[in-house]
Amino acid sequence: MQTIVYQIKDAVYANLTNRCPCACTFCLRAKGPGVYGSPPLWLEREPAQAEIDAALDAQDWTRYRELVFCGYGEPTERLDALLAAAARRKALDPALRVRVNTNGLSDLVNGRPTAALFVGKVDCISISLNTDDPDEYLALCRPKFGPAAFPALLRFAREAAQAVPEVVLTVVGEPVTDLAKQTRCRALAESLGATLRVRPFENGTRRFPVP
Ligand code: SF4
Repeated sequence: MQTIVYQIKDAVYANLTNRCPCACTFCLRAKGPGVYGSPPLWLEREPAQAEIDAALDAQDWTRYRELVFCGYGEPTERLDALLAAAARRKALDPALRVRVNTNGLSDLVNGRPTAALFVGKVDCISISLNTDDPDEYLALCRPKFGPAAFPALLRFAREAAQAVPEVVLTVVGEPVTDLAKQTRCRALAESLGATLRVRPFENGTRRFPVP
């Protein structure tokens, strides 16, 4: 089965890749084949641009207000395909809100600054921050880039806030992130020109829901 797009509530989600430079201790991919009742999100192969466009064209966009690049991997691993698909949808439907849910490591993944590439194509970039502490970030997210990852995430967030209308950094609420740490994370987000969203802690099997 090849799930390129799936729907949750009033949004269409695009699943472009299963690659990710992180190995988060809380990754939902270790817990099952999908999220929130989605079809299985493990891809047999990464979809070509024409397949992505066709899958998005097949949606009844009168029923949805948002397109979210998310899926079961880091969407900026397919940055060119993501940007092309986002630009195409925006051209067809300028009122459609386009969001990217990312780990914020696009610059390291792609080997160049990338935030400016989202201008005009994406309305919101949601970045999993998880913590304000670089050492804790390393332990939680285990990025293949090592200690370079957390500063790269912050730099990407700052530059993205200059490029798109909305940048949101996310953490999971109590008991995972206590109020003091939430306060520090909010201050960090605001210093970058972003806002903080505290995602609900749900239960032990969905400890860190995919944002
Ligand atoms: S960044 Fe997301 S997809 Fe990648 S390992 Fe972490 S939770 Fe999983």
